Amino acid sequence: MSNPKTHFRGSCACARLTYTSASPPSATTTCFCTTCRKLSGSSSQTFTHIPASALTLYDNAQALRYEGLPRDSVGAVRILRLSEFAERAVCVDCGAGVAMRYRAREGEVGVLVGSVDGEVEGLRAEKAIFVGSKPGWVEMGDFGGRCHERFPDGVEEVIMGWRGGDGGEEVEKAG
Ligand SMILES: [Zn+2]
Ligand SMILES: [Zn+2]
Repeated sequence: MSNPKTHFRGSCACARLTYTSASPPSATTTCFCTTCRKLSGSSSQTFTHIPASALTLYDNAQALRYEGLPRDSVGAVRILRLSEFAERAVCVDCGAGVAMRYRAREGEVGVLVGSVDGEVEGLRAEKAIFVGSKPGWVEMGDFGGRCHERFPDGVEEVIMGWRGGDGGEEVEKAG
């Protein structure tokens, strides 16, 4: 059961959907965009980014597993597309999110840190994005030292490219 190459693991709220990561966590990004806030029912969602190939998802109701984040909804995995920028994977039964990917970073997956089971060495807050959308009732506190008005390093530049140099003032959500 225990894969020696597993660096960390996690699950949705009902445990139908579980996963392992063959990569250690990176520094985390806390996103205060409107979509993350609404999905969380709180102030934000926090992600740690790993190579997509390092993620294995398990549908424990059907004894199926998926390498990487599925392209579309399948089995226990529902893929939400709430903006043109990101796709999010949630459990089809309990609705809890486990991962997301930016269309601008195909080879990477952002694992939702709140879904991680147990303490993970090396997991630490580093930066926050969409800080302009942060609700007033929460302080930046431990969310991270580096703050970005919108997307993190790299993603903003790709989106600017899509839009011919104009990132679009109307963008209010990351995904
Ligand atoms: Zn679930
Ligand atoms: Zn967000």
